[in-house]
Amino acid sequence: MENIKTLKDLKLELKAVIKEYSLELQKELKKPLKQAVKEASQPISRKVYNKTYYDKNRQKILANQCKKAKCELCGRSVVQYNLKKHYELPICKNIQARNKLLEDRKTGLEEENI
Ligand SMILES: [Zn+2]
Repeated sequence: MENIKTLKDLKLELKAVIKEYSLELQKELKKPLKQAVKEASQPISRKVYNKTYYDKNRQKILANQCKKAKCELCGRSVVQYNLKKHYELPICKNIQARNKLLEDRKTGLEEENI
């Protein structure tokens, strides 16, 4: 029984190994580790539920992800699946910054007029 390692033991061991690498590599190595620990600690029933849900609604989910959506920050039309990534792109960030600047100027002018 002593040979069986718990998830916590494995995590500690991996952390000790990761510590020997440079800081930049540590970050890269921690990402998949966190994901693996998260997946392993998820109860089985949840995994099974997710799998059956996906199998059942696969077509619907995929169709929904391919749908075009409008970015509420810049007004561009983006594929739903890429929307989260789009928020971080310069094409959207520049417009967000410009809109903020315009908004600040507008409120500044309104305050002057009072
Ligand atoms: Zn946008």
